[in-house]
Amino acid sequence: MRFSQLADVFEAMEKTASRLMLTERLAEVYYNADPTEVRRLTYLCQGILVPESQGIQIGIGDKLAQMAISRVSGKSIGQIEAAYRDVGDLGATAGTLLERKAQSTLLHEDLSIKKVYDNFYKIATSSGSGSQDLKINLLAELLANARPLEAKHIIRFVQGSLRLGMGESTILDALSIFWLCHISKDATALKSGAGTFAIRNCAPVFRKEAAEKKGEASSIELSLEGDLAAIEDAKKGAILDLKSKAGSLEGELLRLTKNGGKYTLALQILAEKRVYRERFERAYSMRSDLGEVAQTVCSGDGNSLAGISPRVFSPIRPALAERLLSPAQIIEKLGKCSVEGKYDGFRLQIHKKGREVKIFSRKEEPMTHMFPDIVEAVGDEFSAKDAIFEGEAIAYDEPQNRFLPFQVTIQRKRKHGIGQKAREIPLRLFAFELLYADGKDYTNVPYEERRMELEKLIRAGASTIAPADRIICKDAPQLQAFFEKCLQEGLEGIIAKDLSAPYGAGARKFAWIKLKRSYGKSVDTYDVVIIGYYFGKGKRAQFEFGGVLTAVYDPEMQKFRSIAKVGTGFSEEQMGEFQKALEKLSIKEKPNSVDSEMTPDVWVTPKIVIEVNADEITRSPTHTAGRAQGGDEGFALRFPRLISIRKDKRPEDAMTESEIFEMFELQQQK
Ligand code: ATP
Repeated sequence: MRFSQLADVFEAMEKTASRLMLTERLAEVYYNADPTEVRRLTYLCQGILVPESQGIQIGIGDKLAQMAISRVSGKSIGQIEAAYRDVGDLGATAGTLLERKAQSTLLHEDLSIKKVYDNFYKIATSSGSGSQDLKINLLAELLANARPLEAKHIIRFVQGSLRLGMGESTILDALSIFWLCHISKDATALKSGAGTFAIRNCAPVFRKEAAEKKGEASSIELSLEGDLAAIEDAKKGAILDLKSKAGSLEGELLRLTKNGGKYTLALQILAEKRVYRERFERAYSMRSDLGEVAQTVCSGDGNSLAGISPRVFSPIRPALAERLLSPAQIIEKLGKCSVEGKYDGFRLQIHKKGREVKIFSRKEEPMTHMFPDIVEAVGDEFSAKDAIFEGEAIAYDEPQNRFLPFQVTIQRKRKHGIGQKAREIPLRLFAFELLYADGKDYTNVPYEERRMELEKLIRAGASTIAPADRIICKDAPQLQAFFEKCLQEGLEGIIAKDLSAPYGAGARKFAWIKLKRSYGKSVDTYDVVIIGYYFGKGKRAQFEFGGVLTAVYDPEMQKFRSIAKVGTGFSEEQMGEFQKALEKLSIKEKPNSVDSEMTPDVWVTPKIVIEVNADEITRSPTHTAGRAQGGDEGFALRFPRLISIRKDKRPEDAMTESEIFEMFELQQQK
């Protein structure tokens, strides 16, 4: 498949806010792709080269990219820099400069998805002497054959800024639509109230106009032939059944038109679309590899994903906790439940195969090298031969029998001197979940059974690994007492767990409910994404940093919506650091993925997540977060101040708009 087809979708994405249209465009790309290129295609859509767990990233600095552009366009670096300053986006600059060049040469070799991906991969993995030149050559080779639009997106990709909003959920939706099209392709029979009819030449029609599909998110349009006179007058809402070699689909008729001997049929397929969407999403949660899921689906094996189970060394997307205000509310929701201490350290997902151990972070990054002490302990103290389990690693003061604050634990996160620090700050691992052990998938097993098995697998006398402290609570006073005990020991609070719930991979569910120490009127702290920054005034001007504009995430529409301007809580050192990091992410125009009516001095690509404290959530006429829930008014954070940078979270892991809404509702009850 030609890369230009994908570049067209990226371009459409930049120009349209219609998620429906993007889904349809992407489903069409999948439909036309050869299954052997689907994995690469999917990673390119995600703006990555391989899943996070493999730790290979492409990130070419402006300088190298400019050298490659210069080589192909014949412009000097000075000319490129000047144009870049003007346009504010190196991808668009490359597109414009190469447009002129393109007009003077006709010698283009069409770029394939494979060629583009493979060059990117070589760029990311070449190192050592001569690698800089090699990287420039590989990039220049692509640019020399790229049309202007392709050049624009190639440059954006290598700079790591191709986060245009083609999120996981759009890709999963597109795959579900693909699968409906796959089943209906070459259908041979159509059943209606009037009987069963033979049909032929059935093929999907991908619509170009979003408007046509309004309210038709789960619909497909088909073109087919057959003797269908008996159903020409079928009414909207009539139920039709489609049968093909690949399966059958039942849908509600939206439209039926006849043109010559051909019919066009639009069918709303709600139930099956939901089943496939959930199936593919679960497969993604089990493997954290959308490329693998897409390849399986597009090879016609979508049904094989139904029973997918964990695989050692493929991280599972983490389960997340909901919030409630009090022990009484928790008991009301869960009844008798298990209540564990909430440890404030590193969430680790540990994979073990014999003596080989790999550790992944909350966002599925490889972290094994950082925790040699935990690796050793897992080998000695965890008795399953093969396993996947989770726990929180936290610095522990043995003599004082106290947990140390996160600021101490975080010192273990480093690139150099790991062994030395491991001796200075030993960690303890409080295991809280078992997901897989010796051939058995525990993700679908009730919590209590997982927990009992987890306890059995930790060897007696283990000194580094321990099961998370817990009690079974039947009533609120019991829960309250355990909560207070946890706080006294230096923990953040508790997590109550539904005794019968399966592991909710990749989802925030009431199977886990957290209750943390008090934050005044606020229910919790807030993890928000920086979307822009302000220049300083007065004393701060010397740092040219006057705070940040932040947003929460709307996963449905894949938008970051503004919620607070944060200007306090930064030390002078932090201001300098933020300024440097944000300058690198700065862009001239508001990114397409951002929805904000406030305009910062400088927009940035949404990448950095920070944790802030605030007095409360208020309604706001200026911020866009939560407008969908509250008419014209959005939500704002009152007196927000910086607490920390959440390096363990991707922008999509920041708080969602609906979480803010839930927290606002909870706050009203305080
Ligand atoms: P927070 O900032 O409150 O940790 P979060 O968004 O990172 O929030 P949540 O889903 O809200 O994650 O809370 C669950 C987190 O609590 C887990 O990611 C894990 O790191 C931590 N944790 C600590 N102790 C436990 C435990 N016993 N069981 C589950 N998670 C625990």
